[in-house]
Amino acid sequence: MDIKELYQEIILDHGKNPRNKNICKDFNKDAKGHNPLCGDKVHIFLKLSNEKKLENISFEGEGCAISMASASIMTEIIKGKQFNIAKKIQEDFLNMIKEGSKLNMNSLSDTENMTMMSLSGVKRFPMRVKCATLAWHTFIEAVEGNKKIVNTEN
Ligand code: ZN
Repeated sequence: MDIKELYQEIILDHGKNPRNKNICKDFNKDAKGHNPLCGDKVHIFLKLSNEKKLENISFEGEGCAISMASASIMTEIIKGKQFNIAKKIQEDFLNMIKEGSKLNMNSLSDTENMTMMSLSGVKRFPMRVKCATLAWHTFIEAVEGNKKIVNTEN
């Protein structure tokens, strides 16, 4: 299996069996995201502790396979991490998707790295970049924002 096929498998797996797709009961922050160009909608729920640790994170939503797989991958990767680390991962992910750069985070395991890299092919399809980044922007808004709705066209 070559790397492209492996990446495809990972995306399909997350699309079919999304991780953390529910409303986590203990959430204390949330935000909604909308990508009108594709119709993707995502609602992120998370529990941030006083020490700024992401004790829980989950999502609800509907949309294309890329948007849902990306939300699933994000929750899997950042759950349990400190927010400042998760924010660096988010920035690293956005650079990879938009600029095609390699991931720089050296605190990620090989599996985590590969799971995030599975979405790297999206860069060649500008319309899909918004699908892949929607959940990640919405996550930051949930922590730092004022519950406004993230809209990829604003
Ligand atoms: Zn989409």
